[in-house]
Amino acid sequence: MKENLTCEECGRELIALIDGTVTPSVARVIERHAASCASCGEALQVYRRQALRLRRMEVLPAPAFARGSAWCAKSWERGVS
Ligand SMILES: [Zn+2]
Repeated sequence: MKENLTCEECGRELIALIDGTVTPSVARVIERHAASCASCGEALQVYRRQALRLRRMEVLPAPAFARGSAWCAKSWERGVS
């Protein structure tokens, strides 16, 4: 992993960082880019907030509107909305 990410590379890795599927050294590089880049820093915040919200929603059943659609139901199963 190189030390300097482009925003595109950072954006790709942000999800993995939130998922906790990156190695600590990769996480450091992403966090450093996010700390020095306004748009990626904001994206990281947004992802973190969404991840928290999704984790809270996992204990609740999918709402009726989501159960009505196969696509939505799949998204709910994966924990992605
Ligand atoms: Zn960036």
